[in-house]
Amino acid sequence: MDFSRSVKKEIVKVSADQYAPKACPSCGNSEITIRTSHKRIISELGNIDTELFIELHVATFECKNCGAKYTPEHVDYPKGYEYSRRIIQTALSMHFQDNVSGNKIAAQLAKYFSVQIPPKTIYSWVNALTEEFMKSEFKTEPEKALEAYKALTIDGTGFSLGNKLLGKKKNVPLASAVKLSNGIYLLTWWE
Ligand SMILES: [Zn+2]
Repeated sequence: MDFSRSVKKEIVKVSADQYAPKACPSCGNSEITIRTSHKRIISELGNIDTELFIELHVATFECKNCGAKYTPEHVDYPKGYEYSRRIIQTALSMHFQDNVSGNKIAAQLAKYFSVQIPPKTIYSWVNALTEEFMKSEFKTEPEKALEAYKALTIDGTGFSLGNKLLGKKKNVPLASAVKLSNGIYLLTWWE
């Protein structure tokens, strides 16, 4: 087996037709036309030797019948993000389920998925998307999400989940801090 490798760049084009509804969402008419369009370049999970990008064609459609204008969004490439949903979900899963720090997540995404990402971007996702992530991950077992909310990791970058998620301040009579093998402290407390 030859383990030498070089990372090649791949760009996959996704046209608006591939994800847009086939009929007008307002009146159901199928005679629709593209008014304006532009392209977005988004990082996607590649693999150990492929750096993958998506060239997403974003179009604003207009209905020929009722005149309604709409810009469909791709579920995998949310508006305002330069990275795919899969990358964000992978990073958040590593953080919350495997207690991996943002710096290590960035290093592992680069190493195994050829995704280049600054750790501060990962921390901004953790701050902005924790609630949505927890709700999706623990849809059937919401009590597990409550446990996860209580776990605060400190890895030397001064990061915390923020007051928004910790809720109202309460006295903590009993707490435990465990240093995990990856150097992260896992702090758990009881109220
Ligand atoms: Zn219409």
